[in-house]
Amino acid sequence: MLIGLNEAMEYAEKHDCAIGAFNTPNLECIMAVVGTAEKLGVPVIISHAELHESVSPLAVIGPVMLLMAERAKVPVCVHLDHCEHLPYLQSALDLGFTGVMYDGSMLPYEENTANTKEAVAMAGKAHADIEAEIGTLAVREDGEITGQGPVYTEPLLARQFVGDTGIDLLAPSFGTAHGIYKAQPQLDFERLSQIRDLVDVPLVMHGGSGCSEEDYHRAIRSGVRKINYYSYMSREGVYGVKQLLNRQEVTFFHDLAAAAVRSMAADAEHAMRIFSVH
Ligand SMILES: [Zn+2]
Repeated sequence: MLIGLNEAMEYAEKHDCAIGAFNTPNLECIMAVVGTAEKLGVPVIISHAELHESVSPLAVIGPVMLLMAERAKVPVCVHLDHCEHLPYLQSALDLGFTGVMYDGSMLPYEENTANTKEAVAMAGKAHADIEAEIGTLAVREDGEITGQGPVYTEPLLARQFVGDTGIDLLAPSFGTAHGIYKAQPQLDFERLSQIRDLVDVPLVMHGGSGCSEEDYHRAIRSGVRKINYYSYMSREGVYGVKQLLNRQEVTFFHDLAAAAVRSMAADAEHAMRIFSVH
């Protein structure tokens, strides 16, 4: 069943948990994530990141995501992740995405705010819900290290940003990074709690995969309602394929794809179970 991003957040608020938002740049990811959510009976968010356009064009993968969401036995939100270009955001809305993230976090405050306001209006017209970011993570989605390092979100500026833009969800920067962690991340939970106390929208944890169970639970207790999770699940898919290739001769690519689905589903299940309780 296809649901809106705000509906997913209402569920999380009601159940005092977080909803996993998994990037799904191919069919194997969609099958692993939606299949696992159905197995556990929990809502889920499947996301397409703009930077994956070269891997999987939105026009191809978007309709597949929407079809899988509509047919799912559990509520599924179809979301656009880290969109930096408004025409691309419009393309996702035109397809019927129910959530979108505009990311102007690398821009000066005024420019980020102006663009985010425009994105809010676009999403509103399409009856979709919108997430935006202020502050920057240490590593961007594509693995590029941000020039100035991480810029932690200032709680007061976060309040102003939410008020100025009218967004539905806020992605603050509090110590996580995208990709695979080289050392255990040190999360600033005090900052997160301060932000939660100042803004009245659900908070999103980016760079969510690779954190400890305790960190997830502390983040949920500090107001996080959506956890973006991808890199570690994707790496499990690679491990699954490697193991199969080490065990036997493989002729058919679909056997590799199936092995990847099984490994990613197991990892997604572990994550979803952690996010469901705190
Ligand atoms: Zn992110």
